[in-house]
Amino acid sequence: MQEDRRFVRPRKQLVETLRKKGIEDERVLMAIGKIPRHKLIDTALHTKAYNDTALPIGMGQTISQPFTVAAQTELLNIEKGEKILEIGTGSGYQCMVLCELGADVYSVERHKELYHRAKEALHELGYRAMLKVGDGTLGWSTYAPYDGIVVTAGAPVVPDDLVQQLAIGGRLVIPVGDDTKQMMLRITRVSENEYEREELADFKFVPLIGEKGWGGS
Ligand code: SAM
Repeated sequence: MQEDRRFVRPRKQLVETLRKKGIEDERVLMAIGKIPRHKLIDTALHTKAYNDTALPIGMGQTISQPFTVAAQTELLNIEKGEKILEIGTGSGYQCMVLCELGADVYSVERHKELYHRAKEALHELGYRAMLKVGDGTLGWSTYAPYDGIVVTAGAPVVPDDLVQQLAIGGRLVIPVGDDTKQMMLRITRVSENEYEREELADFKFVPLIGEKGWGGS
């Protein structure tokens, strides 16, 4: 595909910004340096496409801040060929980063319109992932267990279905908190009934809406 020269330099600068902010995994930085983020947002926002900020994608949702995408991906510690579930497909950006790392990607989005747009964008840019419309707080049991699960919206609590859909050794990276800020958690399934929980930095996400999320029982 023909590269638009206007975006080459801003994308390189974004990679350097993420490096300075502490992202160390070169595979993640390479993915960010390759994916045409501008193609996932409205043309009116193109000048901001490679700023390290979240941007609107419609339906009151956002394409995540590149630093957040990079940090969550780094925390997943992905090996090539691992099966990864993403909750909150949104624009498809995080999904593409996971594909670039060689993961076998599954992703759930609750908004049908965003699902359709992400599906088209992934196809157009040559990425393969399994997508569906649904309530991601329930995971995607059909393809479980997963080596990694990444939740890209803020949850009030850790949904138990997600924990149960982790393989032994699998990692769940999820922001949990109230509607003002969330703590990034990494939960690793050490054995059938044993989990290790790490509390990492504070982040700010749009809410995870669903049965086991905000608005659920
Ligand atoms: N990963 C996305 C990206 O790279 O563009 C981030 C999108 S946004 C920060 C979070 C997404 O989570 C939104 O698209 C929202 O509709 C979705 N979402 C919220 N609750 C959800 C749920 N229960 N199941 C699936 N998707 C959900």
